[in-house]
Amino acid sequence: MLKLGILGHPLSHSRSPEMQAAGLRYLGLSGSYNKFEVKQEDFDTELQQIFSSVNGLNVTIPYKEKILNYLNMRDKLVERIGAANTLLISEGMIKGYNTDYQGFADSLGGINLKNKRIALLGAGGAARAIIIALEDMEPTEVDIYVRNFQKYDGHLPVVSKTNLKLHLYDENSDLSQADLVVNCTPMGQGRLADEMPINSAQMSSLKDTAIVYDLIYSDTSFLRSARSRGLKTIDGSRMLILQGAHSLRIWTGKPVTEKLIEAMSSAFYAATT
Ligand code: NAP
Repeated sequence: MLKLGILGHPLSHSRSPEMQAAGLRYLGLSGSYNKFEVKQEDFDTELQQIFSSVNGLNVTIPYKEKILNYLNMRDKLVERIGAANTLLISEGMIKGYNTDYQGFADSLGGINLKNKRIALLGAGGAARAIIIALEDMEPTEVDIYVRNFQKYDGHLPVVSKTNLKLHLYDENSDLSQADLVVNCTPMGQGRLADEMPINSAQMSSLKDTAIVYDLIYSDTSFLRSARSRGLKTIDGSRMLILQGAHSLRIWTGKPVTEKLIEAMSSAFYAATT
């Protein structure tokens, strides 16, 4: 029986247990998937105990980067991104993977970003995986807008194939040339539910062909505002489900199929409503 779980804090919002349980059921495998909600101050003391009780873990906010110090092996993508969200634990060895990369790439559903311009709003853990996924899609330029330039200057993932530019975001930041705009901030979620990552003038200035993507798992005011302008939108639920399906592939060795994604999606939406 597979023993799986998610490590993070807070975890009350996480729908991964329902989603992964549905995935295991679909694959005909017996297993459990528990929440390990660990406070920062308890991290070191609780981690070894958790490692010894599971075969696999998802890792989420705020531990995707900190966990690197506890790995015996790192997948190539983990090295490039500088963060892990999936651990495979076998015979005391802990190997880290990053399935946010594949979740984001697959969530685009074949949209071709070659020679396109991308704007990322925010540069935290999720943005790091997206920067590397984008690098492999060969856009012309990736512009990253942050509220604290010093914090990120010199601390973004190293890329060789992409023209990556960091900007201090302000109300006049020019997004009018972007083909894809991705919100990688929590603006639109929880206590920031009423906030938008860009202002209405910037929304009006977007190209008519621009695609607006919000990593938040629900329909945000950012996405609603983009749709009312007639723009194509994508919410974060698809990426979340796909990254989960790829984690399950790593733990079980079973391929990600449309039927598996369907089973995990149904459980995710049922748990969300
Ligand atoms: P994170 O590491 O905390 O990074 C958040 C980024 O947003 C940072 O650059 C932060 O800037 C910026 N930010 C935070 N509050 C802001 C504000 N009020 N105004 C402007 N910028 C702000 O978080 P993360 O893990 O990257 O997650 C970001 C979002 O993506 C969250 O909503 C999360 O739920 C979502 N997410 C979705 C998926 C998915 O599968 N769909 C996966 C991962 C994350 P500072 O550094 O200056 O604070």
